[in-house]
Amino acid sequence: MAFGLSLVARTKLSGQGAVLTFHGLCADGAPTGVLDSSLHLPVSVFRSVCQHLKKTCEVLPLSEMVRHVNAGKTLPHNAVAITFDDGLGSNYHLGYPILKELGLPATIFLATGFVDGTHPLWFQEVDRALRARGASTAELFAKLGQLKRLPDAEMRAEVAKLTADCAAAHPEVTLPMRWDQAREMKASGLIEFGGHTHSHPILARCTVEQQAEEIRQCCDRITAELGAAPTLFAYPNGGPTDFTADTQRLLAEHGFEASFTMMPARLVSGLTTQALPRYGNPTSMLEAEATVSGAFELLKQWRGGAA
Ligand SMILES: [Zn+2]
Repeated sequence: MAFGLSLVARTKLSGQGAVLTFHGLCADGAPTGVLDSSLHLPVSVFRSVCQHLKKTCEVLPLSEMVRHVNAGKTLPHNAVAITFDDGLGSNYHLGYPILKELGLPATIFLATGFVDGTHPLWFQEVDRALRARGASTAELFAKLGQLKRLPDAEMRAEVAKLTADCAAAHPEVTLPMRWDQAREMKASGLIEFGGHTHSHPILARCTVEQQAEEIRQCCDRITAELGAAPTLFAYPNGGPTDFTADTQRLLAEHGFEASFTMMPARLVSGLTTQALPRYGNPTSMLEAEATVSGAFELLKQWRGGAA
């Protein structure tokens, strides 16, 4: 039944692409040590999703999909791109071996200060501090929701207060990759790297000067470590109110050919280059099929049409 719908969707929505977003991966059955495990997909699920994509889709480098879209061309049938946000070490330890084995390309968007080891991801710091206090996942989400609405400087001050007396260790799943690991992945020709700011602020909560500085530092660090300036960008948090017209202008000025949100939709020609859609990571093979085939979109359209 589900696959019947996806077959219809694949036919109706041909020429459209899907971009998937992953964050970290974790060993099967091992405790992650974080309150929000949703950002760390068990490696066996990642493997089955990748195997399914290899069998049923054309997995392309994201830069190639962007070239098609920016040139106003139709995407190849069943075009899919795999992306990872933040620069977690598990991308290298657990994800890269699978991608290499299956010959699948992927793009990793780096928060460069995180990879440098100078700017821990603030939401992971909140997770660590709240977990140490015995908070629940629901309490973490409520706190993060509140923090994400604050201007960046206020949010940072709040996070500093929350984490000041926290001596808990950093769980392994939250550790960044190293630059030499990024270089190794890049040299394989399979993995490309994009920008994701330097300290992972929600850009719309920053001043324009701060936004420019975040984008500049991110470009500079990637250029220095990986030998070429990034041309693709992913917005932290990625919602419609998480970036502004200034953000898009600054990204274009820094040479970014495309920027990706977390707004779920098909990738087609003619969309705003600095606000392209992406889907969250599928948590099962069936969800992967529904996402990449466009079955979810078709259902939305039918429901919209019926309303
Ligand atoms: Zn991120």
